[in-house]
Amino acid sequence: MSIQENYKEIKNQLPENIELVAVSKTHPVSSIQEVYDLGQRVFGENKVQELTEKYPLLPKDIQWHLIGHLQTNKVKYIAEFIDTIQSVDSEKLLNEINKEAAKHNRKIKVLLQVKIAEEESKFGLEISEAKDLFDKFIKGEFTNIQITGLMGMATFTEDQNQIRKEFSVLKNLFDELSQIQKMETLSMGMSDDFPIAIECGANSVRVGSAIFGRRDYSK
Ligand SMILES: *Cc1c(COP(=O)(O)O)cnc(C)c1O
Repeated sequence: MSIQENYKEIKNQLPENIELVAVSKTHPVSSIQEVYDLGQRVFGENKVQELTEKYPLLPKDIQWHLIGHLQTNKVKYIAEFIDTIQSVDSEKLLNEINKEAAKHNRKIKVLLQVKIAEEESKFGLEISEAKDLFDKFIKGEFTNIQITGLMGMATFTEDQNQIRKEFSVLKNLFDELSQIQKMETLSMGMSDDFPIAIECGANSVRVGSAIFGRRDYSK
């Protein structure tokens, strides 16, 4: 199927109230433009360098989300234009985003990335750390960021119960923090597991290969 057909198929599967972040990493600007032309405005990239190369070549009303691990020394390259940083996994990074956002007189939206997977390698905050950071945010420590929600990735496994269990942990945290102060976005689910994520309460999904096709890292 073509990218356009894939995109329409995914849109058809998604309930209206679920935000779609089209994950375009490793795919060319021409492919992003194709999906943009069908009405998509929210795109996700996981590398700063790739994003800063693509950004000037594409329409300015795209809302760019950074979804990959972000080093503090790279925040400055995206602070002027990034819509949402989904992958905030330390206080140090939060401070840096806050500082760079202030330089541009902006408020940058961020999601706290929480470690829910069993796998060792995944980045993310422990639940207690996420609670602490949210608490500091509510107390007004970060003037130039808005914590709008949480992001998480489930273990890469065939075991649907495992995935469901992990997403539910994040949904519970989301509900708990939302009672203190309302948050908008619960970002969980990728090409292989977004239907489960939605069942578990996600209202934003990050879909790459199911739209753009498989990523070819050899190029
Ligand atoms: C690559 C990536 C996705 C999209 O993955 P697909 O399986 O291609 O849909 C979603 N979230 C994050 C954090 C990613 O790095």
